[in-house]
Amino acid sequence: MRATAFFMPTVKEDPADAEAVSHKLMVRGGFVRQFASGIYIMLPLGWRVMQRICRIIREEMESIGAVELSMPTMHPADVWQASGRYEAIGPEMFRFNDRGGRDMVLAMTHEEVFAWLASRELRSYRDLPQIWYQIQLKFRDEPRAKGGVLRVREFLMKDSYSFDLDESGLEKSYARHIAAYDRIFARCGLECHRVESDSGFMGGAQAHEYMAPSRAGEDRVALCPACGYSANVELARSRARAPQTQEVHGETARAAGAGESGGSAPREVATPEQRTIDEVSEFLGTPPSSMIKTLLYMAGDSPVLVLVRGDHSLHESKLIRCLKSEVRPAHPEEVEAIAGAEVGFIGPVGLPKGAILRVIADESLRPVDPGGPVGTEAGAVSAEYVTGANKDHTHLVGVVVGRDFAPEYADLREAEAGDGCPECGLPLAIEQVIEVGNIFKLGTKYTVPLGATVLDEGGRERPIVMGSYGIGPARIAAAAIEQSHDGRGIVWPKTIAPFDVYLVQVQAKDADQSEVARTLYEELTAEGWEVLWDDREERPGVKFADAELIGCPIRVTVGKKAPEGLIEVEPRAGGEREEVPATACCARVSALWEATC
Ligand code: ATP
Ligand code: MG
Repeated sequence: MRATAFFMPTVKEDPADAEAVSHKLMVRGGFVRQFASGIYIMLPLGWRVMQRICRIIREEMESIGAVELSMPTMHPADVWQASGRYEAIGPEMFRFNDRGGRDMVLAMTHEEVFAWLASRELRSYRDLPQIWYQIQLKFRDEPRAKGGVLRVREFLMKDSYSFDLDESGLEKSYARHIAAYDRIFARCGLECHRVESDSGFMGGAQAHEYMAPSRAGEDRVALCPACGYSANVELARSRARAPQTQEVHGETARAAGAGESGGSAPREVATPEQRTIDEVSEFLGTPPSSMIKTLLYMAGDSPVLVLVRGDHSLHESKLIRCLKSEVRPAHPEEVEAIAGAEVGFIGPVGLPKGAILRVIADESLRPVDPGGPVGTEAGAVSAEYVTGANKDHTHLVGVVVGRDFAPEYADLREAEAGDGCPECGLPLAIEQVIEVGNIFKLGTKYTVPLGATVLDEGGRERPIVMGSYGIGPARIAAAAIEQSHDGRGIVWPKTIAPFDVYLVQVQAKDADQSEVARTLYEELTAEGWEVLWDDREERPGVKFADAELIGCPIRVTVGKKAPEGLIEVEPRAGGEREEVPATACCARVSALWEATC
């Protein structure tokens, strides 16, 4: 491709609103343009990257026996009503009416439509298994469209769906997808973790996400470098670190007796204006790990008191899963009405009479049986806690879980770096990541409501068992840039670069250079390399800067020494610039290619 016959509008300035490196570089490198909030144009360079990623995806999907088709993106609402998602999904779904007044939606995803097709076309166990896939647009009115193409409102997704007779069939389809996904991300040059993920509170089925480490990511995962345990923090389990030994200093603490053990009942202590864990900890001289953080949530109309250790944080997703309901923090007025005290002073002991509410404590607050296994959960060292007293400007000290109140227990706290791995006990790491794909055992969640059944060998009708599997090709591109760039621009993994070779002709009008460049372009192209020949009448500095910015794996430069038949070859990923005879160019490019990631 000659640059003069191509369209690669590079720009010097970062886009004003951009934070993510990939966003900046994709705009500056002429890969994308924003058309409207969360809606992007893929320019020719960006589209070439997408095509390369999609080619890898297609090859790997076909290798597991998946077949490609294409589904409509405009759906009558009734399939979405049948699954219940028309009501369950909020403003994220684009809805409209056709001219006949019929309710319609734009595709957010395609489980319903695939199940609809299966319900009409698959009749017998002999028709199974099937894996169908497409690379198709999805529309989501994302509340926080940002980060360039990382989170947009219209995007391409590879989505595949497996159809099996039973769970063991689904198991195989799922395993095949794991194998294909592992290869797809590896071939795209991404560093990626497969982690356990939240399968939503409706079904207990298994799900995994593919997570590319990056500071631009919106998700976090817990990883055990020792045994390989890996999970989204939304559900990652961990062993809490032991609470700090109680150090009592400060007059107030001593006066109140905070931290002294041996009492038989909690005692009130005045804590004027001390609302947060840090404030109360400082005021009483009690470490946060010897305090209980009390949060009041509403699950529908039901109040729930949620307790975590003072040095821990609640992860709302865990609470949602535990309650099997959406939740929200109670409003301050609700807190006062239910607990009889302001936010900051509530607790599990001494709730107003008649306050009917569930009290759920994180596992780390469960009293440890002294004869039980050693080193599992915390709580053993500090059995006495400080909590709010349900009385304004007052806390209780010497609160003992189990003695003074009896909560339910659940895993509610967010895993933190340094917590013990739930499997092997060694310290967990927490990494920020971009979700690039996920796989999901759906079971019969969609096939039952959409009536997708087959007759089994015995002639009995059975709902098809389904799986669904997504990948965002644009997120792969952006994540690859996040993981591989330098101060000068993108350093594409060679498999997904827009071109293999960036051929710089330093002087566009120089006859010798034109001749050598043309010959190299033809030879390289004939050998199967995809070459971008920069023959523009631009200053050499501009061309070199664009070559670095666009980030193709190998740069070939035809300059002053063209009349002597000498050119330069250089890998983008760092390495020596070599002067070689033009006749050796193809061989050098091949050798460098082999050595490049
Ligand atoms: P997220 O949690 O990031 O919103 P999701 O769980 O909604 O993602 P899925 O619905 O499973 O994602 O979509 C499958 C894949 O599609 C994701 O792994 C991601 O690569 C891509 N994807 C999802 N939402 C977007 C978006 N708004 N913009 C770009 N790509 C997206
Ligand atoms: Mg989403």
